[in-house]
Amino acid sequence: MANPSLLILAGDGIGPEVMAEVKKIIGWYETRRGITFDVSEGLVGGCSYDAHGTPLTDVVMAQAQAVDAVLLGAVGGPKYDKLDFSLKPERGLLRLRKEMDLFSNLRPAQCFDALADFSSLKKEVVAGLDIVIVRELTSGVYFGEPRGIFVEGNERVGINTQRYTESEIARVARSAFELARKRSNKVCSMEKANVMESGVLWREVVQEVHDKEYPDVELSHMYADAGAMQLCRWPKQFDVIVTDNLFGDLLSDMAAMLTGSLGMLPSASLGLPMANGRPKALYEPVHGSAPDIAGTGKANPIACILSFAMALRYSFSLGDEATRVEKAVEQVLADGARTADLMGPEGGTPISTSQMGDAVVAALTASLKAA
Ligand code: NAD
Repeated sequence: MANPSLLILAGDGIGPEVMAEVKKIIGWYETRRGITFDVSEGLVGGCSYDAHGTPLTDVVMAQAQAVDAVLLGAVGGPKYDKLDFSLKPERGLLRLRKEMDLFSNLRPAQCFDALADFSSLKKEVVAGLDIVIVRELTSGVYFGEPRGIFVEGNERVGINTQRYTESEIARVARSAFELARKRSNKVCSMEKANVMESGVLWREVVQEVHDKEYPDVELSHMYADAGAMQLCRWPKQFDVIVTDNLFGDLLSDMAAMLTGSLGMLPSASLGLPMANGRPKALYEPVHGSAPDIAGTGKANPIACILSFAMALRYSFSLGDEATRVEKAVEQVLADGARTADLMGPEGGTPISTSQMGDAVVAALTASLKAA
C-alpha cells in the first residue's frame, strides 16, 4: 500500500520554527515505528508572495489537492500589511480552504491537568475540560457577496454579506453530529436567530438534520453571545459546539484562553471524502505567525505537534499513534517542561521551541519502553 502522503506548508513567522519540531516527530515515526510518510513541501503566505508574487501558486494548490493531508504552520506578518487584499498572506490560506472545500473546522479545547492553574479562569472551571468547536469554514460572512468598500453619496461604506445555503448548513451539522457520536453524544448549535435571518435558517436546518438523521444525539440551541458567556461561566456543560464561520472564529479563540495558551491549540479542517475514503484535510495550529516572537526560539510547538496528531487520527487512521503523541505531550507538561508562553506567575526557566520538540520525542521513545 502507498505511504500516507503529507504536504508541509510551514509558512511565515514562527510557522517554520514549530514545523521543524513536527518534522522531528515524523522522523521518529520512520526510524522507531516503521511508519513512513511521503512528505513534500511548499510555500504559502508571505514567503510565497516573496518568491512568486502570490500567496499561493497554482502548483502548490494542485499539490494540496493531491495529497492525503496538508499540514500548515502559519501565515502573515507586518511586512505584508500594506499589500492589496487579494495578495495578503491570509488569502493563500483562504484559497486552500475554499478550493479544497474544507467546510468543517474542528477546534478542540482541551485542558491538560498540568496547565489547569494557568488558565485565567478558576481551576475547577477548566480542569478536565475537553470540548470541540466545529466551525463552518467555507461560507458565511467571510465569503458572501456583495463585499467591498464602496462610495455612497459623500462617504464610504464597507460591506460584507452573511450568506448560508441549506446544504452548507446541513453538511457541517452532519459532521458535528458524527463527531458527537464518537464523544459524549451532545451538540450545541450557536447562531443569532434572534436578529439574523441566516441564523433562523441555521437553527431550522440543524434541527431538521438532527430529527431525520441523528435523533439519538442530544441537541440544544443557543444564541452565540449567550454561548460566549456560558463558555466563560461553565465550559464543561458543552461537548461539541457547531457554529458558523464568524462566530466560530471568535468562540474558538475564546475557548483557547480557557486552556491557557494559543500555543497549545491544534485544528483540523475537513472536507468530503476523496476516492481513497479519506477526507480532504488541512491541519494547522490555531495561532498565527506570532511576529513578536519569531526568530527568538520562544514559540511553543505543541499546537503544531497536536495538529499532526489530529492528522494521524483523521487522515491516516492511526488513532493509537495520535493518542501516543497526545500522551507524550501530556507527560512532558506533567514533568514541568514549559515554553515561555506557559510560564505562570511563579516564574521559572522556560525551554526553547527546539527543547520542547526534543522533550516530546524523548517521551515518545519512553512510551515504547513502557509498553
Ligand atoms: P498570533 O496568533 O500570531 O499571536 C497572538 C499572540 O500569541 C502573540 O503574542 C504571540 O506571540 C502569541 N503566540 C501565538 N502563537 C504562539 C506560540 N505557538 N507560542 C507562543 N506564543 C504564541 O496572532 P496575531 O498577532 O493577531 O497575528 C500575527 C499574524 O498572524 C498576522 O499577520 C495575522 O494575520 C496572522 N494570523 C495567521 C493565522 C494563520 O496562519 N492561521 C491565524 C491568525 C493570525
